[in-house]
Amino acid sequence: MGRLDGKIALVSGGARGMGASHARMIVAEGGKVVIGDILDGEGQALAKELGANAVYIHLDVTKLPDWEAAVKLAKDKFGGLSVLVNNAGIVNFGTLSEYTLNDWDKVIAINLTGSFLGIKAAESALVESAPSSIINISSTAGFKGFAALHGYTASKFGVRGLTKSVALELATRKVRCNVIHPGNISTPMNHHLDLSGYNPMDRMGHTNEISYLVVHLASDESTFTTGAEYLVDGGELAGGAAIQAK
Ligand code: NAD
Repeated sequence: MGRLDGKIALVSGGARGMGASHARMIVAEGGKVVIGDILDGEGQALAKELGANAVYIHLDVTKLPDWEAAVKLAKDKFGGLSVLVNNAGIVNFGTLSEYTLNDWDKVIAINLTGSFLGIKAAESALVESAPSSIINISSTAGFKGFAALHGYTASKFGVRGLTKSVALELATRKVRCNVIHPGNISTPMNHHLDLSGYNPMDRMGHTNEISYLVVHLASDESTFTTGAEYLVDGGELAGGAAIQAK
């Protein structure tokens, strides 16, 4: 018996990186998954690899009609929607003088507004299929500032707040809403950055180290958990650098 038998999930940004890992583990645990992304080639290939329990749809998270179509697909093909993973995200950098309004608007639209639109589009389907679970993906940048990462940091703090307000509103309707804060995880988003030594474990995290928690929060193992925050960061937020003897 799988931990997600009977669960039907929608994973945004599911074509690669952490989202693809979540989609794989959801199916491996007996669930069904709608993979939404703007990377159609990679998303279709992943759905093919996963077989009959997976389907891909083009989903730009900034577009409400795309979300509505993805929710409809989950209902038409699999019979409902009980898990929403708001995973899609981008990062962009720039000092205050370099960083443009366009840069800001873009990252807020995808990382924060995109999560809100997903919840808005999925709400009634999640209530119908309850007990259901919304899993938002923030970051350690939802807890602390990063220089020259203004829009990203603001968006990830925003995702934390959205998680709380949604958790409160949907609690009695048996839809839970929790947030995961990954530290540095090895994915296409950051393969160009040297992030080794950034946490006390002295390594990058692996995508499946986030997916195991996604499975727990998606499953009925966590039915008394809502509005909660989970750090999966190799100890990054436990404190500062080690104090060395002189
Ligand atoms: P990734 O770049 O590998 O994957 C992100 C996915 O989101 C891609 O498939 C991309 O096509 C998709 N996406 C981008 N814009 C989209 C849009 N408008 N609509 C739909 N999909 C869109 O990155 P990742 O590292 O797997 O990131 C997944 C999530 O984890 C993001 O929200 C990211 O901010 C967060 N995160 C990543 C790290 C890390 O170290 N990699 C750390 C903390 C948080």
